[in-house]
Amino acid sequence: MHTDPEPLAVSFANTRSSSVRDRIGTFDEFRRWAQDWPALRPLAARLPADSLASLLERRDATQLVLHAVADGRKPPAAAFALATDSGLEAAPFRLRPAACGATLGRVPPFEAIHHIIARSAVDLLLSPQAAALRRCEGVGCRRVFASARANRRWCDTRVCGNRARVAAHARRHAQGTKPPTAG
Ligand SMILES: [Zn+2]
Repeated sequence: MHTDPEPLAVSFANTRSSSVRDRIGTFDEFRRWAQDWPALRPLAARLPADSLASLLERRDATQLVLHAVADGRKPPAAAFALATDSGLEAAPFRLRPAACGATLGRVPPFEAIHHIIARSAVDLLLSPQAAALRRCEGVGCRRVFASARANRRWCDTRVCGNRARVAAHARRHAQGTKPPTAG
């Protein structure tokens, strides 16, 4: 089953999908990830290479916040401020939506990217999707997703769902072939 498109804040948080997997671990990887987002695409192309560390800080904070919301916990205050504050500030530039992700005009790319991602986190938390936010049950998976289906368990049935099925099969097989215990 193919999963629905995710809000930007969810996709951003999910770039860290496990302790060993980081989709934006390098600056080039961040730029590639940004290609899927019409607002980010033209800005990422102009972003200075030393921007990565602060983007990763924002990503980790966003993930902490979304995990807390999905678990029904209060997000840590520092992470919440980092993930949302710049999305609440009035931007010193104007973002105009344009068909086909055309240029946003002359906006400072670093500030604009932080603003757009933070605003997406704010919009998500203010939307009905916040209540539908859940964590993937896959072992070691850090992804979150918003789903109206109460029985959805995996970020992606082809990845985490399949892995769980394989593990369950292996467990059954191990039980079935276990030598009988003495006594
Ligand atoms: Zn998963």
